[in-house]
Amino acid sequence: MAFFCIIFIYFFCCCIIYLEMRYYMIIGSHVSFNKNEQLVGSVRESISYGANTFMFYTGAPQNTRRLPIDSSLTREAFSLMKENGIDFNNVIVHAPYIVNLANEKNFDFSISFLREELKRVEELGFDKVVLHPGSHVGIGSDKAIENIVYCLNKVLVDTNVKVLLETMAGKGTEVGINFSEIRKIIDGIDNKANIGVCLDTCHIHDAGYDVSDFDSVLSEFDNIIGLDKLLCIHINDSKNVIGAHKDRHENIGYGYIGFDNMINIIYNERVKDVPKILETPYVKDDSGSYPPYKFEIEMIKNKKFNDNLYNDVIDYYK
Ligand code: FE
Ligand code: FE
Ligand code: ZN
Repeated sequence: MAFFCIIFIYFFCCCIIYLEMRYYMIIGSHVSFNKNEQLVGSVRESISYGANTFMFYTGAPQNTRRLPIDSSLTREAFSLMKENGIDFNNVIVHAPYIVNLANEKNFDFSISFLREELKRVEELGFDKVVLHPGSHVGIGSDKAIENIVYCLNKVLVDTNVKVLLETMAGKGTEVGINFSEIRKIIDGIDNKANIGVCLDTCHIHDAGYDVSDFDSVLSEFDNIIGLDKLLCIHINDSKNVIGAHKDRHENIGYGYIGFDNMINIIYNERVKDVPKILETPYVKDDSGSYPPYKFEIEMIKNKKFNDNLYNDVIDYYK
């Protein structure tokens, strides 16, 4: 009798573990962080999308004006996160994209701003900041990589925050457009524990990687950089063909990567612990624009393409 009980308990546990694995996914989207609600607003927005993580800018992405952080709002946000199963370890901050470490122009400002930004992120209780490596604007990528390394070595001191270099599409004079360039930057960093990578599916597709064979892409990443450095994935379809070097995001399943490939990327076992963040475009009509994330996350969880996404979004928010 005892024997059968043990067998039964064993199978029961196996079933639970299997179900957990099947449904375990760290997914969210880019959300806003406004001056009145700050992090509380970001958390509420994520919850409304059915997400269990999120990414935000600490102010407008296109400028470096930043307001002081209200610690009572931060505390409120953390209890809200706890109640709703959002683990703060999976939350991502994005540095403003005008910070360009690749070119000497505004060097000192970029360094001091980034230092401040890491402090803000630490104050908010998070530890990961995604950063675009930058654009060389004519000086060539070798010199640009030297510059990025120089700046990051000045920024990554006395901090618990990790900077995640984002893989870029190769638009204009962008740097970090393949795994080797990212590796070269990492090689120059003194504080290697505080440097990681954010893989953007639209960007690597536009840069020429064939994401329909994501396992091979991951193997290449592992050989050149190491999968332990992969700390965030931006989940975007692309408006352009592979290798287009454009960087125009598309809604999941509506672009050249396609729904099945996106699902295979998201559910790949090798990246199951990596937070996945949607940065797909808002749905627009004459009266405004609306976030697609609630419906995209639904599609992803159900593994079923919604060919009525635009109307569903508009009907829901209008
Ligand atoms: Fe980005
Ligand atoms: Fe991105
Ligand atoms: Zn992009």
